[in-house]
Amino acid sequence: MSAFPVIRDPDRVRRLLALPHVRPKAMEALAQARVALVGLGGLGSGSAPYLAAAGVGTLVLVDPDRVAATDLGRQILYTPDDVGAPKVAAAAARLRAMNPAVRIEARAEAVEADNVDALLAGCDVVLDGLDQGAPREVLNRYAVMRGVPLVFAGALGYEGQVMVVPGGGRPCLACLFGDLEGAVGDCATQGVLGPLVGMVGALEAQEALKLLMGLGTPLAGRLWLYDAYTGDTRVVTVPPRPDCRVCGPSAPARTPPGRNSAAASNPSPGR
Ligand SMILES: [Zn+2]
Repeated sequence: MSAFPVIRDPDRVRRLLALPHVRPKAMEALAQARVALVGLGGLGSGSAPYLAAAGVGTLVLVDPDRVAATDLGRQILYTPDDVGAPKVAAAAARLRAMNPAVRIEARAEAVEADNVDALLAGCDVVLDGLDQGAPREVLNRYAVMRGVPLVFAGALGYEGQVMVVPGGGRPCLACLFGDLEGAVGDCATQGVLGPLVGMVGALEAQEALKLLMGLGTPLAGRLWLYDAYTGDTRVVTVPPRPDCRVCGPSAPARTPPGRNSAAASNPSPGR
């Protein structure tokens, strides 16, 4: 069996290979890549299908929630038959149907400080599909401390935003928001436009593919902002905050792991 299953399906990647600057070697990088999607709601519904369709080797799906009827208006990974099922299980079934070559690991867990190393072990890129500040704080710290790129996104009301916290870790989300928990709103009370959240999720997948394939200029340290109400889009540079409590000079020392080293020291069930 080929070590690069996506290459066995040349029609799937023919349009990708037709792009300028994309070499066949990039297909191998995709087929070997391990990408975590933390949060399988509206953002994950926008990002996961594109990553599976493109042939990312392994997708690690992390979400403790079950599908609710109020999710169906925007979380298009799910159907009415999925209501009550764990999101990671329903999403895994849908994504496997889209591309059987993609390996999928489903973890029905919340990301916390004491399990993040095991959940994200060996991942090349992490996608933030969260709507809560506490786990986002954990992901931001992980990206900075472990040197793994994090693609952040938010979609609330009519506003969408995306930024990459680079593997080097600066600037980070604490540079941008300060208190991450206080920066998060609630779509249950503020509402959200379905296509907006899907569009922002798709942009997260696009940034992940760029990182994995070495393409273009990722939104590292640059915040992409979109106002769906007016149609205005802009990108603003986010400077590193000198006194940042997460990535600044006085923050704890960084401890980048080797690939899968965290898994070896802290194994996770189901690997
Ligand atoms: Zn920072």
